Amino acid sequence: MLGYHSCGSGETGVTLASDLLRWYDRHARALPWRMPPGGSRPDPYHVWLSEIMLQQTTVAAVASYYRRFLDLWPSVTNLAAADDAEVMGEWAGLGYYARARNLLKCARILARDGFPPDHDGWMKLPGVGPYTAAAIAAIAYDEPVAVVDGNVERVFARLFALTTSLPKLKEDVRALVAAEVPAARAGDFAQATMDLGATICTPKSPACLMCPLSDRCRAFAEGRATDFPVRAAKVAVPHRTGFVYVARRDDGAVLVETRPDKGLLGGMLGFPTGPWADTQVEAAPLAADWRTVGQVDHTFTHFRLTLTVMVATIEVPGQRMVRPSDLPTLMRKVYDVAMAGFVRD
Ligand code: SF4
Repeated sequence: MLGYHSCGSGETGVTLASDLLRWYDRHARALPWRMPPGGSRPDPYHVWLSEIMLQQTTVAAVASYYRRFLDLWPSVTNLAAADDAEVMGEWAGLGYYARARNLLKCARILARDGFPPDHDGWMKLPGVGPYTAAAIAAIAYDEPVAVVDGNVERVFARLFALTTSLPKLKEDVRALVAAEVPAARAGDFAQATMDLGATICTPKSPACLMCPLSDRCRAFAEGRATDFPVRAAKVAVPHRTGFVYVARRDDGAVLVETRPDKGLLGGMLGFPTGPWADTQVEAAPLAADWRTVGQVDHTFTHFRLTLTVMVATIEVPGQRMVRPSDLPTLMRKVYDVAMAGFVRD
């Protein structure tokens, strides 16, 4: 247990939560999946869908996908009955494709068993980790649990001038947030903390003079807001390389494959590739007059990848036509480099 005290002002009934909620009532962001502050509770399907999409992805990138998914599949029953390939295709471009596979698995469980009523029930579902379970429990059910994302980490690291860095920081922040979560309006409190981090307590230039918590903030009092959170020393990101093969028929059809379910970009459409390793290994999917047209760089969470793009014109029936929009981001980059290479023929 941490030795920090609550940032209370000493004035009876005025807490960090009450100050923050008063600010949130006036300044909450309007987001497609949100209910206004203090309003009725949102549909758990909407909360779950948005939280899965928001994992590792920005609010701006998610909004159009979220609307499109709800247009196509307005309820969890509709989503559970959807064709896997169609869902994967609609997810293309959002990245972290294991999320889409888990989304479908989870939708089928939810459609069969109903929505869990609390945090512990959500934790048992595929694709739902501690953060997502806490966010859904707080936002959809007002369960008073600590919800800690990157924004909340930054706000609390500054409020309490925490000197720990990740991963220990997350644990420390969770304990501090848990001590501040109000018994009522836990969902609004979670969203208010996130909004403060996204709009006021921003990473590079926090607007401390507009902050409803500046009187309580140690980092601000010390004039050191941007010194927190303390960064851990950087670990070098591994670099892998490989070949990717784009074979095109005269009518414009290109050869694609569905990648194995397990592994990166699992279940997504893509061009055949060799292994992604420290050294390049040729692995052409068929004999053809392959030539190099360029390279594509892409960064995954744990490594950086450089693919050498090979193209060839072939005369083999049975290739699948793709729309570039059906491809995940890495394969779209490959497609663009390959098509430019064909044009230079
Ligand atoms: Fe962040 Fe500044 Fe507010 Fe402290 S006073 S929480 S550093 S915006």
